[in-house]
Amino acid sequence: MNEYDSSRMADLLGESHDMELTDNAEEADVLLLNTCSIREKAQDKVYHQLGRWKKLKDKKPGLKIGVGGCVASQEGDAIRKRAKHVDMIFGPQTLHKLPTMVDAAAKSIPITDVTFPEIEKFDHLPAPRVDGAEAFVSVMEGCSKYCTFCVVPYTRGEEVSRPFNDIIQEVTQLAEQGVREIHLLGQNVNAYRDESNADMEADLADVIHAAAAVDGVERIRFTTSHPVEFTDSLIEAFRTVPELVSHLHLPVQSGSNKILKAMKRGHDRQAYIDKINKIKAARPDISLSSDFIIGFPGETDDDFVDTMNLIQEIGFDHSFSFVYSQRPGTPAAELEDDTPEELKKQRLAILQRRINQQSYDISQAMIGSTQRILVTGYSPRDPGKMQGRTENNRIVNFPAIDARLIGKFADVIITDAFPNSLLGELISSELESSYSL
Ligand code: SAH
Repeated sequence: MNEYDSSRMADLLGESHDMELTDNAEEADVLLLNTCSIREKAQDKVYHQLGRWKKLKDKKPGLKIGVGGCVASQEGDAIRKRAKHVDMIFGPQTLHKLPTMVDAAAKSIPITDVTFPEIEKFDHLPAPRVDGAEAFVSVMEGCSKYCTFCVVPYTRGEEVSRPFNDIIQEVTQLAEQGVREIHLLGQNVNAYRDESNADMEADLADVIHAAAAVDGVERIRFTTSHPVEFTDSLIEAFRTVPELVSHLHLPVQSGSNKILKAMKRGHDRQAYIDKINKIKAARPDISLSSDFIIGFPGETDDDFVDTMNLIQEIGFDHSFSFVYSQRPGTPAAELEDDTPEELKKQRLAILQRRINQQSYDISQAMIGSTQRILVTGYSPRDPGKMQGRTENNRIVNFPAIDARLIGKFADVIITDAFPNSLLGELISSELESSYSL
């Protein structure tokens, strides 16, 4: 989501002030830090970066510095207590005001605006510009689930959905620029409900159906969904929409009923398993990934074993897993936590080893199979190879040098598997007229 927001910021300032992105901070007129506060570590990084940028500003007083995102939302003006040199402080829902903030900063007027003006932001963003065949499209923002560990409802606000027609218009604009794979985004993407049309309350499954019908769109992904919002209509979409990839990221956080309850996730272990079984019945070859929080207050060895057993039972292919981080203002921050940090780290290492092994086993089993990939470009390590992504989110490198393949689908046979990528041979591609999608 932050990546998406960052590219919107670049689009906005490109349109309003003719600004261009640079990789070189020393050459910039405006430096923006788009921040995340989901865990404490992300927050600490913000102040380190601002410290480094202070030196640049000392050398170039006209330089303007802005902090956006969830740390800005959470800290507001307090950021200036630790970093006086910050000119603009804006939240995830006020980034569309950047052009006026930059004008104010030019007159040395410091600005802080971290409000949640509903979904107004999307009405003020320019049409998206992309280069490449993959693009994010935000469909909803925020979260109203209030899991006890999570800061999102307080930093991004409650769930707000964009109007259905706006989303499909954006997908169409992207497809017209050559986008083939659309990644629908939201903090709770499957809580999407179109409230703009009282007669027909569209949900995420409707968005998927409509996006799949847009000319040029051949692949659709969505993140991140919540198990309790995983409706039958969405499960059905896996059965009926071939453009929807055979990959699903569905965060479970823990395999222990006691911990799930303390997290206020709204479902137990069995409900998660039942949901996955229904999804597997609709799409038997689906690859599954998840989020885990290790060391939530009160997590015992037995609770951890429940999580490990669930990982094996579901056969997860990938995870985003972290040690629990206490977030200010969340209910779990009040809970007593007597598990030593060292033990939490050990548990996390065990879990990650297990999932990496499962993932590697799946990669090995793919050797010899034919996979459809969307070619994204040249391999950064080997200029004689190109690379693309499989439906189950693996990078495949294959020998070829043909720029016309970029942004096209191709079939490759997998010849080898490594921990972070696969090796393949090109069999056929969209460049051939006989290739059928
Ligand atoms: N809305 C989805 C996914 C949220 S994505 C869901 O609730 O399932 C954010 C991920 O960050 C979460 O899935 C969780 O694994 C992680 N996370 C959130 N708060 C955290 C915290 N306090 N400590 C560690 N990880 C956290």
